[in-house]
Amino acid sequence: MQVFAHGGICVSNGEGAVYLDPSRGRADGVVTHAHSDHLRPRTHMTPATAEVMRVRTGSRKAQLHGYREPFRVRGIEVELHDAGHVIGSAMVAVDGGRVLYTGDFNPCGTITAGRAEPRPCETLVIEATYGRPEQVLPPRSRVIRDLQGWMLAVCANDGGIVGAYTLGKAQEVVAAANAAGLRPAVSDEVGEVCDIYVAHNVPLEYDRFSTLTPEQRAAPGLLVTSSTATSGRRPDVVVLELRRRGFQTARVSGWCAFAPWALRGVDAGFPMSDHADFTGLMDFVEACAPQQVYTVHGAQRELAREIEKRLDIPARPLPERDEMTLEEFT
Ligand SMILES: [Zn+2]
Repeated sequence: MQVFAHGGICVSNGEGAVYLDPSRGRADGVVTHAHSDHLRPRTHMTPATAEVMRVRTGSRKAQLHGYREPFRVRGIEVELHDAGHVIGSAMVAVDGGRVLYTGDFNPCGTITAGRAEPRPCETLVIEATYGRPEQVLPPRSRVIRDLQGWMLAVCANDGGIVGAYTLGKAQEVVAAANAAGLRPAVSDEVGEVCDIYVAHNVPLEYDRFSTLTPEQRAAPGLLVTSSTATSGRRPDVVVLELRRRGFQTARVSGWCAFAPWALRGVDAGFPMSDHADFTGLMDFVEACAPQQVYTVHGAQRELAREIEKRLDIPARPLPERDEMTLEEFT
């Protein structure tokens, strides 16, 4: 099997190929999850990923596969495993598990979307979002405790608004609020994804802000909305009005730990991520014990360098097909 970048992550046996997170919809493509930079219609995906696609784009065109249900694409065996990133997110095992592609993954475990477990493989293709050695996040349980403390404190005063990615992170925030005894209001775009989680037996308690009575809207307590609405990059009339009335704002994103821009325009930041941090990446590689590693997305070069240095496993950013030597490609 050869693995290289060519319209996605191409895994080829010389006769056929499967395209992981392809750059366009294609029948031999496998999509790992429903974030827009990965999602393409007319590909193979999990039922939950397809449901998010239907709600957000109207497209129903997908071939559905559950976790641990092997299927064949152009004669190559493929199997999906929980990636713990967002609902329906999948790691892709190819060729009987010899090649493993993590997609975006989270080995810590989430409240709402499972957890990525390492799998022994020969070739590991791993995301490198937080691939720099300094990109180590505080323990998730501590961040959730801090967030819950903030939510309870703002609700005891005027109220608060939490901004987060509408698929995945926002549902973690709702679950954390519920665990603290709060039932938040949510924006419609967060609510439509929460509804999918509930349909997949993730117990979330929330009310859509748009369905509240005028009296309830005047004092919603806690509102969970998109990070763009909170930071002011996309002015949101509800957020602007609540802020005018003294609501505090917070952003929930791993980048709050590393990047000043993540804290711009908000009163507080909580570094909870749905990705592996640097320690999580290194531990995952070690546990998979591959013979070679390819890095994709984000800090590819830095992560590859650290894997070679610390684990003594050959690693490099995933090569383009044109960069492969003839010997590698045969
Ligand atoms: Zn993602």
